Amino acid sequence: MNKSCISLLHLSRIYLRHPNITRGAVMPLHFVGLRTYCSSVRVRSYLQYMKRKIRPPTPPYSHVCQVGDPVLRSHASLVDPAAVKGPEVQKVIDTMIKVMRKLECVGLSAPQIGVPLRILALEYPQKMLEETPSVLREARGLSVLPLRVFVNPQMRVLDGRTVVFQEACESITGFSAAVPRYLSVEISGLNEKAESVTWQTSHWAARIIQHEMDHLDGILYIDHMDSKSFININWQSYNE
Ligand SMILES: [Zn+2]
Repeated sequence: MNKSCISLLHLSRIYLRHPNITRGAVMPLHFVGLRTYCSSVRVRSYLQYMKRKIRPPTPPYSHVCQVGDPVLRSHASLVDPAAVKGPEVQKVIDTMIKVMRKLECVGLSAPQIGVPLRILALEYPQKMLEETPSVLREARGLSVLPLRVFVNPQMRVLDGRTVVFQEACESITGFSAAVPRYLSVEISGLNEKAESVTWQTSHWAARIIQHEMDHLDGILYIDHMDSKSFININWQSYNE
């Protein structure tokens, strides 16, 4: 798991600088504590502050909700299949994709943008893969993943062996921990066009799916983590 939520633009810039650290999924331990990570203190202009004061944003948000927000602990509701192509659900999906790409994270769930519906999206673009050293590609089993959206997804474990990697989440900004995930899974559901789709995958993609599926049931990676591996990704900068 690499990256997924923050003082948004600020973090996006950090990730741009360090494309090998991606959120939403997993990051290798040796990337943890990079000195170049900056503080995730949110910096807003006065104009942005006043705008939010006068008219607070409503879901679907263009930011990612942070741990503590009840929406992240709720059991997301099924989407009416007849409503998938409607404007409301389409707006949620479009916003998820925009936020995911803005933050350069590899997966996102609807609850993370404040919408307690069973929708998830994932994408691992070619550019991100190219920016990742080949040794890491191999260790993580990385490959390009075209954008995929699942509505009302169901997951089945295909290979019950587990692998442990450092994982992060846009909803728990600035932290990371080692999390075991199944090696291979099958996910099925509706896509953004309300068509039935099934996908069998393994390695990194399987990890992203498990992470995002958990979000739909109010589960966060910290519920599965090895607590002794839990770190502040900026810990080194505090000693400088
Ligand atoms: Zn997450």
